[in-house]
Amino acid sequence: MTQINKHLLNLKESYLFSLIEEKVAVFKKNHPNSNVISLGVGDIAFPLAPVIGRGISEACLEMTQKPHGYSPATGLPFLIEKLFETEYKSYGISLDEICISEGINRDICDLGNLISVDQKVGIMDPTYPVYLKNSILSGKSNITLLPCREENGFVPLPPSEHLDVVYLCSPCNPTGIAMNRLALQKWVDYALREKAILLFDAAYAAFIRSSDVPKSIYEIEGAREVAIELRSFSKTAGFTGLRLGYTIVPKELFLYDGNTRYNFLHFWKMHQDIKTNGISYPIQKGGFAALSQEGKKETKAQIDSYLDSAKKIKETLEHLGYTCYGGVDSPYIWCKLKGQTSWEAFDAFLTNYQIVTIPGVGFGKEGEGFIRLSSFLTTAVTQAVVDRFLKKGAATCAMK
Ligand code: PLP
Repeated sequence: MTQINKHLLNLKESYLFSLIEEKVAVFKKNHPNSNVISLGVGDIAFPLAPVIGRGISEACLEMTQKPHGYSPATGLPFLIEKLFETEYKSYGISLDEICISEGINRDICDLGNLISVDQKVGIMDPTYPVYLKNSILSGKSNITLLPCREENGFVPLPPSEHLDVVYLCSPCNPTGIAMNRLALQKWVDYALREKAILLFDAAYAAFIRSSDVPKSIYEIEGAREVAIELRSFSKTAGFTGLRLGYTIVPKELFLYDGNTRYNFLHFWKMHQDIKTNGISYPIQKGGFAALSQEGKKETKAQIDSYLDSAKKIKETLEHLGYTCYGGVDSPYIWCKLKGQTSWEAFDAFLTNYQIVTIPGVGFGKEGEGFIRLSSFLTTAVTQAVVDRFLKKGAATCAMK
Protein backbone atom coordinates (compact mmCIF):
# COMPACT_ATOMS: atom_id res chain seq x y z
CA MET A 1 0.00 0.00 0.00
CA THR A 2 1.34 3.38 -0.98
CA GLN A 3 1.47 5.63 2.08
CA ILE A 4 0.39 9.27 1.86
CA ASN A 5 2.70 12.19 2.56
CA LYS A 6 1.39 12.91 6.08
CA HIS A 7 1.86 16.65 5.65
CA LEU A 8 -1.02 16.63 3.19
CA LEU A 9 -3.28 15.59 6.04
CA ASN A 10 -2.18 18.63 8.07
CA LEU A 11 -3.60 20.96 5.43
CA LYS A 12 -7.00 22.30 6.34
CA GLU A 13 -9.23 21.94 3.31
CA SER A 14 -9.96 25.45 2.03
CA TYR A 15 -13.48 25.84 0.79
CA LEU A 16 -13.11 29.59 0.20
CA PHE A 17 -13.32 29.70 -3.58
CA SER A 18 -15.64 26.70 -3.95
CA LEU A 19 -17.99 28.21 -1.38
CA ILE A 20 -17.88 31.58 -3.19
CA GLU A 21 -18.64 29.84 -6.50
CA GLU A 22 -21.45 27.86 -4.92
CA LYS A 23 -23.04 30.95 -3.38
CA VAL A 24 -22.77 32.90 -6.63
CA ALA A 25 -24.26 29.98 -8.59
CA VAL A 26 -27.23 29.76 -6.17
CA PHE A 27 -27.74 33.52 -6.37
CA LYS A 28 -27.72 33.47 -10.18
CA LYS A 29 -30.16 30.55 -10.24
CA ASN A 30 -32.54 32.40 -7.92
CA HIS A 31 -32.07 35.68 -9.80
CA PRO A 32 -31.83 34.70 -13.49
CA ASN A 33 -31.94 38.34 -14.62
CA SER A 34 -29.15 39.46 -12.31
CA ASN A 35 -25.91 40.87 -13.62
CA VAL A 36 -23.26 39.80 -11.14
CA ILE A 37 -19.93 41.66 -11.24
CA SER A 38 -16.92 40.00 -9.67
CA LEU A 39 -14.50 42.00 -7.55
CA GLY A 40 -13.40 38.69 -6.09
CA VAL A 41 -10.52 36.75 -7.65
CA GLY A 42 -7.81 39.25 -8.55
CA ASP A 43 -7.44 38.34 -12.20
CA ILE A 44 -6.67 40.76 -15.01
CA ALA A 45 -9.42 42.62 -16.89
CA PHE A 46 -7.60 44.03 -19.92
CA PRO A 47 -6.48 42.09 -22.98
CA LEU A 48 -2.78 41.59 -23.54
CA ALA A 49 -0.93 44.75 -24.57
CA PRO A 50 -0.48 44.61 -28.39
CA VAL A 51 3.34 44.82 -28.24
CA ILE A 52 3.43 41.72 -26.02
CA GLY A 53 1.05 39.82 -28.30
CA ARG A 54 3.27 40.71 -31.26
CA GLY A 55 6.38 39.57 -29.40
CA ILE A 56 4.83 36.17 -28.68
CA SER A 57 3.40 35.75 -32.20
CA GLU A 58 6.67 36.66 -33.88
CA ALA A 59 8.50 34.17 -31.67
CA CYS A 60 6.03 31.44 -32.71
CA LEU A 61 6.50 32.29 -36.38
CA GLU A 62 10.26 32.27 -35.89
CA MET A 63 9.89 28.75 -34.53
CA THR A 64 8.32 27.63 -37.82
CA GLN A 65 11.58 28.59 -39.51
CA LYS A 66 14.11 27.61 -36.88
CA PRO A 67 13.88 25.19 -33.95
CA HIS A 68 13.91 26.56 -30.43
CA GLY A 69 14.02 23.66 -28.02
CA TYR A 70 14.35 23.52 -24.26
CA SER A 71 15.28 26.75 -22.50
CA PRO A 72 17.79 26.87 -19.64
CA ALA A 73 16.00 26.16 -16.33
CA THR A 74 16.47 29.70 -15.03
CA GLY A 75 15.78 31.59 -18.24
CA LEU A 76 17.12 32.66 -21.61
CA PRO A 77 19.92 35.24 -21.61
CA PHE A 78 17.99 37.88 -23.62
CA LEU A 79 15.28 38.12 -20.94
CA ILE A 80 17.72 38.01 -18.02
CA GLU A 81 19.76 40.78 -19.65
CA LYS A 82 16.65 42.87 -20.23
CA LEU A 83 15.56 42.49 -16.60
CA PHE A 84 19.06 43.39 -15.51
CA GLU A 85 19.13 46.54 -17.66
CA THR A 86 15.60 47.72 -16.91
CA GLU A 87 15.05 46.66 -13.31
CA TYR A 88 18.01 45.40 -11.32
CA LYS A 89 21.29 46.94 -12.47
CA SER A 90 20.72 49.95 -10.27
CA TYR A 91 20.27 47.74 -7.18
CA GLY A 92 23.61 45.99 -7.62
CA ILE A 93 22.05 42.68 -8.61
CA SER A 94 24.09 40.69 -11.14
CA LEU A 95 22.87 38.79 -14.19
CA ASP A 96 23.40 35.35 -12.68
CA GLU A 97 21.28 36.21 -9.64
CA ILE A 98 18.16 36.69 -11.80
CA CYS A 99 16.24 33.43 -12.18
CA ILE A 100 13.29 33.28 -14.57
CA SER A 101 10.38 30.99 -13.76
CA GLU A 102 6.88 30.07 -14.84
CA GLY A 103 5.40 32.47 -12.27
CA ILE A 104 6.16 33.00 -8.64
CA ASN A 105 3.52 30.79 -7.08
CA ARG A 106 5.79 27.86 -7.90
CA ASP A 107 8.85 29.72 -6.66
CA ILE A 108 7.18 30.57 -3.33
CA CYS A 109 6.53 26.86 -2.86
CA ASP A 110 9.86 25.61 -4.17
CA LEU A 111 11.97 28.05 -2.14
CA GLY A 112 10.26 26.75 0.98
CA ASN A 113 11.35 23.24 0.05
CA LEU A 114 15.03 24.25 0.27
CA ILE A 115 14.62 25.14 3.93
CA SER A 116 14.86 22.51 6.67
CA VAL A 117 11.53 21.41 8.18
CA ASP A 118 12.55 22.33 11.72
CA GLN A 119 13.02 26.00 10.90
CA LYS A 120 10.86 28.70 12.46
CA VAL A 121 8.71 30.38 9.84
CA GLY A 122 7.04 33.80 10.13
CA ILE A 123 3.98 34.55 7.99
CA MET A 124 1.83 37.69 7.87
CA ASP A 125 -1.84 37.26 8.81
CA PRO A 126 -3.84 37.95 6.68
CA THR A 127 -1.86 37.32 3.53
CA TYR A 128 -1.56 35.29 0.34
CA PRO A 129 -2.55 31.81 1.57
CA VAL A 130 0.12 29.91 -0.36
CA TYR A 131 2.91 30.80 2.13
CA LEU A 132 1.13 29.02 4.96
CA LYS A 133 -0.23 26.15 2.91
CA ASN A 134 3.11 25.30 1.34
CA SER A 135 4.93 25.66 4.66
CA ILE A 136 2.59 23.01 6.07
CA LEU A 137 2.90 20.88 2.94
CA SER A 138 6.69 20.97 3.17
CA GLY A 139 6.52 19.75 6.77
CA LYS A 140 7.05 22.98 8.72
CA SER A 141 5.18 23.03 12.02
CA ASN A 142 6.96 25.85 13.81
CA ILE A 143 4.97 28.71 12.30
CA THR A 144 4.46 32.15 13.83
CA LEU A 145 1.66 34.27 12.42
CA LEU A 146 2.42 37.98 12.34
CA PRO A 147 -0.85 39.89 12.81
CA CYS A 148 -1.59 42.70 10.35
CA ARG A 149 -4.20 44.80 12.11
CA GLU A 150 -5.54 48.33 12.01
CA GLU A 151 -3.45 49.09 15.13
CA ASN A 152 -0.14 48.40 13.34
CA GLY A 153 -1.27 49.87 10.03
CA PHE A 154 -1.41 46.27 8.71
CA VAL A 155 2.41 46.13 8.78
CA PRO A 156 3.80 43.81 11.45
CA LEU A 157 6.92 44.78 13.35
CA PRO A 158 9.66 42.16 13.64
CA PRO A 159 8.89 40.03 16.71
CA SER A 160 11.08 39.67 19.81
CA GLU A 161 11.36 35.92 19.13
CA HIS A 162 13.78 34.35 16.65
CA LEU A 163 12.52 33.36 13.19
CA ASP A 164 14.61 31.63 10.53
CA VAL A 165 12.56 32.58 7.51
CA VAL A 166 9.89 35.24 7.05
CA TYR A 167 7.47 35.69 4.17
CA LEU A 168 6.79 39.37 3.52
CA CYS A 169 4.25 40.51 0.96
CA SER A 170 4.38 44.15 -0.11
CA PRO A 171 2.14 45.61 -1.47
CA CYS A 172 0.20 43.04 0.47
CA ASN A 173 -2.51 40.82 -0.86
CA PRO A 174 -5.19 41.19 0.57
CA THR A 175 -4.76 44.36 2.68
CA GLY A 176 -3.41 46.45 -0.20
CA ILE A 177 -0.87 47.98 2.17
CA ALA A 178 2.71 48.49 1.00
CA MET A 179 5.63 48.64 3.43
CA ASN A 180 7.51 51.90 3.51
CA ARG A 181 11.29 52.27 3.68
CA LEU A 182 11.39 52.40 7.47
CA ALA A 183 9.30 49.26 7.93
CA LEU A 184 11.41 47.34 5.43
CA GLN A 185 14.64 48.54 7.03
CA LYS A 186 13.40 47.16 10.38
CA TRP A 187 12.81 43.76 8.81
CA VAL A 188 16.19 43.75 7.06
CA ASP A 189 17.93 44.73 10.31
CA TYR A 190 16.02 41.97 12.13
CA ALA A 191 17.04 39.40 9.53
CA LEU A 192 20.70 40.52 9.70
CA ARG A 193 20.60 40.25 13.50
CA GLU A 194 18.82 36.88 13.57
CA LYS A 195 20.63 35.45 10.52
CA ALA A 196 17.19 34.91 9.00
CA ILE A 197 16.07 34.92 5.37
CA LEU A 198 13.30 37.19 4.08
CA LEU A 199 11.20 35.88 1.18
CA PHE A 200 9.93 39.14 -0.24
CA ASP A 201 6.91 38.77 -2.51
CA ALA A 202 6.72 41.87 -4.69
CA ALA A 203 4.08 40.57 -7.13
CA TYR A 204 2.42 44.00 -7.11
CA ALA A 205 5.58 46.17 -7.21
CA ALA A 206 4.45 47.83 -10.45
CA PHE A 207 1.44 49.33 -8.62
CA ILE A 208 3.62 51.33 -6.23
CA ARG A 209 3.27 55.08 -6.66
CA SER A 210 4.11 56.42 -3.15
CA SER A 211 7.58 57.90 -2.97
CA ASP A 212 8.47 56.42 0.44
CA VAL A 213 7.62 52.85 -0.65
CA PRO A 214 10.55 50.97 -2.20
CA LYS A 215 9.78 49.06 -5.40
CA SER A 216 12.46 46.54 -4.54
CA ILE A 217 13.76 45.33 -1.19
CA TYR A 218 17.28 45.84 -2.56
CA GLU A 219 16.75 49.58 -2.12
CA ILE A 220 17.23 48.81 1.58
CA GLU A 221 20.72 48.70 3.02
CA GLY A 222 21.80 45.18 3.95
CA ALA A 223 19.01 43.48 1.95
CA ARG A 224 21.42 41.63 -0.35
CA GLU A 225 22.60 39.62 2.64
CA VAL A 226 19.15 38.48 3.77
CA ALA A 227 16.47 38.84 1.10
CA ILE A 228 15.15 36.89 -1.86
CA GLU A 229 12.78 38.92 -4.04
CA LEU A 230 9.99 37.43 -6.13
CA ARG A 231 8.34 39.34 -8.95
CA SER A 232 5.77 38.33 -11.50
CA PHE A 233 4.63 39.39 -14.96
CA SER A 234 1.11 38.24 -14.00
CA LYS A 235 -0.47 41.43 -12.69
CA THR A 236 2.24 43.72 -14.06
CA ALA A 237 1.81 42.81 -17.71
CA GLY A 238 -1.29 40.61 -17.89
CA PHE A 239 0.52 37.24 -17.88
CA THR A 240 -1.81 35.33 -15.53
CA GLY A 241 -2.78 33.10 -18.46
CA LEU A 242 0.71 33.00 -19.96
CA ARG A 243 2.86 32.38 -16.83
CA LEU A 244 6.14 34.18 -16.28
CA GLY A 245 7.96 35.44 -13.21
CA TYR A 246 11.44 35.83 -11.73
CA THR A 247 13.21 35.39 -8.45
CA ILE A 248 16.33 37.19 -7.32
CA VAL A 249 18.69 35.19 -5.14
CA PRO A 250 21.77 37.21 -4.12
CA LYS A 251 25.06 35.34 -3.77
CA GLU A 252 25.45 36.52 -0.17
CA LEU A 253 22.64 34.20 0.98
CA PHE A 254 23.54 30.91 2.63
CA LEU A 255 21.81 27.79 3.92
CA TYR A 256 23.48 25.98 6.81
CA ASP A 257 23.99 22.37 7.77
CA GLY A 258 25.16 22.86 11.34
CA ASN A 259 27.98 25.34 10.88
CA THR A 260 28.74 24.39 7.30
CA ARG A 261 27.33 26.91 4.91
CA TYR A 262 26.06 26.38 1.40
CA ASN A 263 25.36 28.94 -1.25
CA PHE A 264 21.59 29.39 -1.62
CA LEU A 265 21.79 30.42 -5.28
CA HIS A 266 23.80 27.31 -6.14
CA PHE A 267 21.13 25.06 -4.63
CA TRP A 268 18.29 27.09 -6.13
CA LYS A 269 19.74 26.63 -9.63
CA MET A 270 20.34 22.95 -8.95
CA HIS A 271 16.75 22.62 -7.77
CA GLN A 272 15.39 24.41 -10.85
CA ASP A 273 17.52 22.20 -13.12
CA ILE A 274 15.80 19.19 -11.62
CA LYS A 275 12.27 20.62 -11.51
CA THR A 276 11.90 22.42 -14.82
CA ASN A 277 12.97 22.21 -18.42
CA GLY A 278 12.57 25.94 -18.82
CA ILE A 279 9.94 28.43 -19.88
CA SER A 280 8.81 28.45 -23.51
CA TYR A 281 10.65 30.71 -25.93
CA PRO A 282 7.54 32.67 -27.06
CA ILE A 283 6.52 33.46 -23.47
CA GLN A 284 10.00 34.72 -22.66
CA LYS A 285 9.86 36.82 -25.84
CA GLY A 286 6.54 38.17 -24.58
CA GLY A 287 8.24 39.12 -21.31
CA PHE A 288 11.03 40.78 -23.28
CA ALA A 289 8.43 42.80 -25.21
CA ALA A 290 6.74 43.80 -21.93
CA LEU A 291 10.04 45.30 -20.79
CA SER A 292 10.55 47.30 -23.99
CA GLN A 293 9.79 51.02 -23.90
CA GLU A 294 6.52 50.48 -25.73
CA GLY A 295 5.65 47.51 -23.51
CA LYS A 296 6.28 49.49 -20.34
CA LYS A 297 4.14 52.33 -21.65
CA GLU A 298 1.24 50.04 -22.56
CA THR A 299 1.33 48.05 -19.32
CA LYS A 300 1.72 51.18 -17.19
CA ALA A 301 -1.43 52.57 -18.79
CA GLN A 302 -3.30 49.41 -17.74
CA ILE A 303 -1.96 49.56 -14.18
CA ASP A 304 -2.81 53.27 -13.95
CA SER A 305 -6.34 52.37 -14.98
CA TYR A 306 -6.59 49.63 -12.31
CA LEU A 307 -5.31 52.12 -9.74
CA ASP A 308 -7.84 54.66 -10.88
CA SER A 309 -10.59 52.04 -10.46
CA ALA A 310 -9.30 51.27 -6.95
CA LYS A 311 -9.45 54.95 -6.06
CA LYS A 312 -13.02 55.33 -7.36
CA ILE A 313 -14.31 52.23 -5.59
CA LYS A 314 -12.57 53.11 -2.35
CA GLU A 315 -13.93 56.65 -2.39
CA THR A 316 -17.44 55.35 -3.07
CA LEU A 317 -17.31 52.87 -0.20
CA GLU A 318 -16.01 55.60 2.08
CA HIS A 319 -18.91 57.78 0.94
CA LEU A 320 -21.20 54.96 2.12
CA GLY A 321 -19.55 55.11 5.52
CA TYR A 322 -17.06 52.27 5.29
CA THR A 323 -13.46 52.59 6.45
CA CYS A 324 -11.22 51.33 3.68
CA TYR A 325 -7.50 50.61 3.43
CA GLY A 326 -5.17 49.90 0.52
CA GLY A 327 -6.13 50.74 -3.05
CA VAL A 328 -3.28 53.26 -3.35
CA ASP A 329 -0.13 51.28 -4.22
CA SER A 330 -2.21 48.21 -4.87
CA PRO A 331 -5.23 46.90 -6.80
CA TYR A 332 -6.84 45.68 -3.56
CA ILE A 333 -9.20 47.52 -1.24
CA TRP A 334 -9.48 46.19 2.29
CA CYS A 335 -12.89 47.22 3.53
CA LYS A 336 -13.65 47.21 7.25
CA LEU A 337 -17.11 45.99 8.10
CA LYS A 338 -19.53 47.49 10.51
CA GLY A 339 -20.17 44.64 12.89
CA GLN A 340 -20.71 42.01 10.19
CA THR A 341 -18.56 38.93 9.76
CA SER A 342 -16.68 38.60 6.46
CA TRP A 343 -19.14 35.99 5.20
CA GLU A 344 -22.19 38.03 6.25
CA ALA A 345 -20.80 40.97 4.30
CA PHE A 346 -20.03 38.74 1.34
CA ASP A 347 -23.69 37.65 1.30
CA ALA A 348 -24.94 41.24 1.76
CA PHE A 349 -22.79 42.60 -1.10
CA LEU A 350 -23.96 39.80 -3.36
CA THR A 351 -27.63 40.26 -2.47
CA ASN A 352 -27.75 44.05 -2.38
CA TYR A 353 -25.30 45.01 -5.11
CA GLN A 354 -24.88 41.78 -7.09
CA ILE A 355 -21.16 42.20 -6.43
CA VAL A 356 -18.78 39.39 -5.53
CA THR A 357 -16.10 40.17 -2.94
CA ILE A 358 -13.77 37.92 -0.95
CA PRO A 359 -14.36 37.39 2.76
CA GLY A 360 -11.24 38.63 4.56
CA VAL A 361 -11.18 35.59 6.80
CA GLY A 362 -10.23 33.52 3.76
CA PHE A 363 -6.76 35.11 3.98
CA GLY A 364 -6.25 34.32 7.68
CA LYS A 365 -7.87 34.68 11.08
CA GLU A 366 -6.99 38.38 11.26
CA GLY A 367 -8.98 38.99 8.10
CA GLU A 368 -12.26 38.46 9.94
CA GLY A 369 -14.35 41.64 9.89
CA PHE A 370 -13.03 42.69 6.46
CA ILE A 371 -13.74 41.97 2.81
CA ARG A 372 -11.33 42.35 -0.10
CA LEU A 373 -12.41 44.08 -3.29
CA SER A 374 -10.24 43.81 -6.37
CA SER A 375 -9.92 46.68 -8.83
CA PHE A 376 -8.91 44.55 -11.81
CA LEU A 377 -11.78 46.07 -13.80
CA THR A 378 -12.25 47.98 -17.01
CA THR A 379 -13.29 51.63 -16.73
CA ALA A 380 -16.87 50.81 -17.82
CA VAL A 381 -17.28 48.04 -15.25
CA THR A 382 -15.79 50.27 -12.55
CA GLN A 383 -18.42 52.90 -13.35
CA ALA A 384 -21.16 50.25 -13.16
CA VAL A 385 -19.86 49.18 -9.72
CA VAL A 386 -19.77 52.77 -8.47
CA ASP A 387 -23.29 53.42 -9.80
CA ARG A 388 -24.63 50.33 -8.04
CA PHE A 389 -23.03 51.28 -4.75
CA LEU A 390 -24.43 54.81 -4.97
CA LYS A 391 -27.89 53.75 -6.09
CA LYS A 392 -28.37 50.98 -3.56
CA GLY A 393 -26.03 52.30 -0.89
CA ALA A 394 -28.66 53.85 1.34
CA ALA A 395 -30.81 50.71 1.38
CA THR A 396 -27.84 48.56 2.27
CA CYS A 397 -26.63 50.88 5.01
CA ALA A 398 -30.10 50.76 6.52
CA MET A 399 -29.88 46.97 6.71
CA LYS A 400 -26.74 46.95 8.87
N1 PLP B 1 2.02 36.47 -4.84
C1 PLP B 1 0.91 37.17 -4.57
C2 PLP B 1 0.91 38.08 -3.39
C3 PLP B 1 -0.22 37.06 -5.37
O1 PLP B 1 -1.32 37.75 -5.06
C4 PLP B 1 -0.18 36.19 -6.48
C5 PLP B 1 -1.35 36.01 -7.34
O2 PLP B 1 -2.44 36.43 -7.09
C6 PLP B 1 0.99 35.48 -6.72
C7 PLP B 1 2.07 35.64 -5.88
C8 PLP B 1 1.08 34.50 -7.85
O3 PLP B 1 1.86 35.02 -8.88
P1 PLP B 1 2.10 34.21 -10.23
O4 PLP B 1 0.93 34.44 -11.10
O5 PLP B 1 3.38 34.77 -10.76
O6 PLP B 1 2.25 32.77 -9.87
